[in-house]
Amino acid sequence: MSQSDKSGPGKARHRASRFVCKFGGSSLSGADQLRKVRAIIEADARRSIIVPSAPGKRDSTDTKITDLLYLCHHAASLGADYSASFDQIVERFTGIESDLQIAPFIAQHLEHFRHEMARGVSADYAASRGEHFCGLLLANWLDAEFIEPADCIVISPNGLVDSQTWELLGAKLADRSKRYVIPGFYGRDADGQVRTFSRGGSDVSGAVAARAAEADLYENWTDVSGLLMADPRIVENPRPMKEVTYAEIRELSYMGASVLHEEAMAPVREVGIPVNIRNTNAPEHPGTRIVAQLSPEEVATTQIAGVAGKTSFAMITVGKNLMNREVGFVYRLLGIFEHRGIPFEHCPSSIDSVSVIVESSWLEGQAEQILEEIHRTLEADEVDFVPQIALIAIVGEEMAHTPGVAARVFSALSTSGINVRLINQGASELNIIVGVGPEDYPAAVRAIYGAFVA
Ligand code: ASP
Repeated sequence: MSQSDKSGPGKARHRASRFVCKFGGSSLSGADQLRKVRAIIEADARRSIIVPSAPGKRDSTDTKITDLLYLCHHAASLGADYSASFDQIVERFTGIESDLQIAPFIAQHLEHFRHEMARGVSADYAASRGEHFCGLLLANWLDAEFIEPADCIVISPNGLVDSQTWELLGAKLADRSKRYVIPGFYGRDADGQVRTFSRGGSDVSGAVAARAAEADLYENWTDVSGLLMADPRIVENPRPMKEVTYAEIRELSYMGASVLHEEAMAPVREVGIPVNIRNTNAPEHPGTRIVAQLSPEEVATTQIAGVAGKTSFAMITVGKNLMNREVGFVYRLLGIFEHRGIPFEHCPSSIDSVSVIVESSWLEGQAEQILEEIHRTLEADEVDFVPQIALIAIVGEEMAHTPGVAARVFSALSTSGINVRLINQGASELNIIVGVGPEDYPAAVRAIYGAFVA
């Protein structure tokens, strides 16, 4: 069944508008943070579906509740004592409860869980309790209806959401006049056992809830005021992005810009629900909107969405005279990587040479054998190996319609005396990728950013 038959913003037109608000661990780390969350929710009646993470760190010395839960489970599986970590979990939840003056009820749930742990539970079940208890507390405090994800979010064996979820969860969230709390991070598998998404997966739950509820907006509340055009560890005070497309985000996060959980975009992207990244600690800041298409104002003011990169690539370049006439050459070359289960990232080519770029960690312990196999089976004239190369992506939907973007990139690099090792521009013209030596990486990012942002 196609999802867009059942859900999508088209249907929402005649109904009250509503938002899904996912709050990350740092927004829920203690009672003061929860008070901010409440103020945000109460500031806009459309914020009616709340998806909490588990309480995160209160400061850099603290431990996330989810990490404590995994720790307890691991100790339990070894038959070791985990009572000190378990007590820390209990203290955190009961502390929040009493600070918020909620009539005590959470200790009872925690004690029940202590018994379950002693009898033996799965790692996923143990880890899911952080979100579960946080959801119970929030629902109680906000006087909202608690939705149990294990009843309505189905997770497939590959860890992605199963399409049964849209109807099951959609039915639970049907009443547009109600406020709901649904814990993030978990659901159930086909056998009814609690199953989590991968780490950081509350972002996915938020997206799933937004789609199932046919929400108008998915607000993702975190501790930064949206996304930045470049890595702040490299560029001083990079400009925040006001608006960025789903496709641009995909490119930037592929290149290491940490944004949302990788799998969080698909459910909302498929039905065109916009995402707004917001800061719980600065709720007046509009944050970054992730949309299908940029608004005319954004198009008029930006040429690129951002610059991101990684230094963790390796490149193997194979040269052979008359390679262009040899049918299946690249197929056989990539087959060598395929047989070893190594994914390739890019494959730029010229008439008589082709390069394969992979994450360097894949080559550990087998680079020599791969080079030898390429030489032998492809009868290559030359095989050149660069163990570390940095790739930088300059990403922007508007690049295709803007002459001179590439010229600016390359003149900025040349002015800074940086040698470009490779260039790759996808046919979609959504990005230009340049490869530079790892030692040139920070200077190259700064030069490129500086060429677009005054
Ligand atoms: N609490 C889970 C984690 O720490 C999920 C999340 O916060 O998104 O990974």
